[in-house]
Amino acid sequence: MIYENEYAKVDFFDWEPIQKCKKVGLAISGGTDSALVLYMLCNELKHKNYDYEIVLFTLVQDSQPMVQHIVMDVVDIIRDMFPEVNVPTPLFTHWGGDVHNEHMGNKKVNSSREFKKKLIAEGKIDSILSGRNLITFATAEEQATYGLDTLRVEPRPSIMRDGIPHYEPLSITDKKFVAKVYEDEGLLETLFPHTISCTGNAQDTDYFTKVCEKCWSCQERKWAFGVY
Ligand SMILES: [Zn+2]
Repeated sequence: MIYENEYAKVDFFDWEPIQKCKKVGLAISGGTDSALVLYMLCNELKHKNYDYEIVLFTLVQDSQPMVQHIVMDVVDIIRDMFPEVNVPTPLFTHWGGDVHNEHMGNKKVNSSREFKKKLIAEGKIDSILSGRNLITFATAEEQATYGLDTLRVEPRPSIMRDGIPHYEPLSITDKKFVAKVYEDEGLLETLFPHTISCTGNAQDTDYFTKVCEKCWSCQERKWAFGVY
């Protein structure tokens, strides 16, 4: 399925290694990007005859316990949109750290990677699908302060890692593309309101009753979608 607008053209699932797999693992965070690739995957499975099992997984850090509820909300919306596709309840794993206090990023990324390796070793997944995209609204210097695992300034091709294909269809573009696909697919009134991008902790969000409007994820969402 091709998704094309003024920002990019993404031919979803146009990568042979991923087409040969059977159990695709998607890390779903409750944000707009992973929700969109889940939508794209379900759309693909609905229209093409792939024999695929979807496995969803989420790393819930203790400083953001609401993530589990946000993710379930997104999953329920996608289930309503694609009743013919088996969208499973995500596998949740907990992480005791707080990215705001622990040199954000790397420790969380390592925990997430360990979880993926465990799923691979147990035979639960044989491929990874990711909503990772480029960050173009901030400079490399600014991104370095976000504590991301790697700067998202260069397109990253889909790769083999830990012995399985990692497919990152949005890695050639940024959140403006994502926002336009939401608009073109009619998802701004349906899926979008159920996603939350904020990475703020309890203090920043009045115990998760509002988004913080200051973390980089909030800033990027406002830049692309026009709202926090
Ligand atoms: Zn925020």
